[in-house]
Amino acid sequence: MSLLICIDPGHGGPDTGATGFGLREADIVLQLAELVGEKFNRYEGVAVTFTRNKNTSSSYPGPPEGLRKRIAYANNKNADLFLSLHCNAGGGSGFESFIAKGAPARTQRIQRAINDQVLLYLKGYGIGPHGNPAKVDSQAARSRIAVLRDTKMSAVLLENLFIDNAKENKMLRDRRFLDGLAGAIVKGIAVALGLKEKVNKPKPMYRVMVDGKEIVDTAYESIILEKVKEAVNKKTKEIRLYRL
Ligand SMILES: [Zn+2]
Repeated sequence: MSLLICIDPGHGGPDTGATGFGLREADIVLQLAELVGEKFNRYEGVAVTFTRNKNTSSSYPGPPEGLRKRIAYANNKNADLFLSLHCNAGGGSGFESFIAKGAPARTQRIQRAINDQVLLYLKGYGIGPHGNPAKVDSQAARSRIAVLRDTKMSAVLLENLFIDNAKENKMLRDRRFLDGLAGAIVKGIAVALGLKEKVNKPKPMYRVMVDGKEIVDTAYESIILEKVKEAVNKKTKEIRLYRL
């Protein structure tokens, strides 16, 4: 199984996104996107790609062309999930997420699982949802958010707090807070998609006995190999290896 997650830090380049207290949405969501990307490393069979990885839109001159290019990029890559990261503004508070109108059950499940994890995390900071956190984007028959409407894969857009809310602005400046937020987002996706954590098997250690004498107590393979070679080169009768 191999899954490709396309992470889309909103805005970029000349498009700063929303601003608040000197903070730019484009910068914050880029940081968040990088943290989210890193967190997927701990899961098996997942690869990530980004619609931008610098705060430039050199290849994406900014919406609306930028959005079209991002959508085309994800579609051409055949990504399995499009995750668009934004911050809200306009005098509210809290977290919310959007999926397209008519999005399939898989997408709804991913949205719900992200919301569950993120809201649990935010609770610890006294921050709640912005109204109903699981929003379905629609304007009459169509979704109005292009990245949700025109991407071919499951697509979820997250509005990560309000950049123009004093308390939330402060949180967004805190790298540790962002790291935890990224962890919650990725955990939600992992739950929804049944991702498995990589298993780090502990390396075995050995004890080496040469002709009844303990040469090495507890050591890794690289160390004992040398000792065994030395013993082999001498007139050794018996080499015993104990796996610990
Ligand atoms: Zn935005």
